[in-house]
Amino acid sequence: MVVVGNGNSAIEEAIYLTKFARRVTIIVIHEEGKMDAEKLFQERAYANDKIDFIWNSTLEEVKGDGIVDTAVLKNVKTGELTEFNCDGIFIFVGRVPSTDFLEETEVELNEQGYIKTNEEMETSVQGVYAAGDVREKPVRQVITAAGDGATAAVMAQSYLEAEEHWRENVLQTDKQVVVAFWNPTHSKSLDTLQTIEKLGVEQDDSKKLVKIDTYRNRLITERYSVSDIPTILVIENGEVIERLEQPESQDLEKIL
Ligand SMILES: Cc1cc2nc3c(=O)[nH]c(=O)nc-3n(C[C@H](O)[C@H](O)[C@H](O)COP(=O)(O)OP(=O)(O)OC[C@H]3O[C@@H](n4cnc5c(N)ncnc54)[C@H](O)[C@@H]3O)c2cc1C
Repeated sequence: MVVVGNGNSAIEEAIYLTKFARRVTIIVIHEEGKMDAEKLFQERAYANDKIDFIWNSTLEEVKGDGIVDTAVLKNVKTGELTEFNCDGIFIFVGRVPSTDFLEETEVELNEQGYIKTNEEMETSVQGVYAAGDVREKPVRQVITAAGDGATAAVMAQSYLEAEEHWRENVLQTDKQVVVAFWNPTHSKSLDTLQTIEKLGVEQDDSKKLVKIDTYRNRLITERYSVSDIPTILVIENGEVIERLEQPESQDLEKIL
């Protein structure tokens, strides 16, 4: 067997393959004795009788009639090509996420080009989710990719539902909308809700009360830059016409 590469993944895989293969040859691009893998992996590979190395070399071509039988190797110092008989080739020469198409967008990438997300698979752009190997994370496996996918799908669905609810009930209604940002654990915001209800907003046909729990509706909360609760917005024709932060009852009476 041939393993191409000399980072942790390549050396770990080469060691693993020795359980099944008679001989594993690692093709290393660097000078003899120099590898990118951590010392521990290097030492394990050197100590394994079934592993040997071809240094200063890269894989130039794979030959075989439907099944691999030859690796054509190139010496990077001399340019010389040699043929190496083998039954299989495992290539571990680094991973590059295919995220070039995002470079001109607001979607934030890390230095290696992986997409940054939070635990809900949200990227830096509202409504854009990322899942699987392409995102920044510690373990890249089928099961973690599938888990990411499930999370992203559920989150994207609830985002779409929340957006639709907001559009229909707040932005596209002909009523004046009183939006109360609150949270069940925040007593002052609960008091404010009670005051609004007492003022009869819900009984007034020209007005509508929409309560936004800041914990469950983070995106709307962020969009309207609400950091302090209670915050009250009065919205007409999709535009905020009044904004009250930490209002007292008399402030509410004046605007409602
Ligand atoms: C050699 C090797 C061995 C592995 N062995 C295992 C293992 O034993 N067990 C395990 O759990 N995992 C293993 N993995 C990891 C596993 O394959 C990945 O974690 C998993 O496939 C990630 O799934 P994904 O959907 O995120 O990405 P992928 O499976 O890579 O799928 C991404 C898809 O997106 C497509 N695509 C790319 N760019 C675009 C674009 N711009 N627009 C539309 N589509 C696009 C691609 O063509 C591809 O079909 C191995 C990986 C490698 C490389």
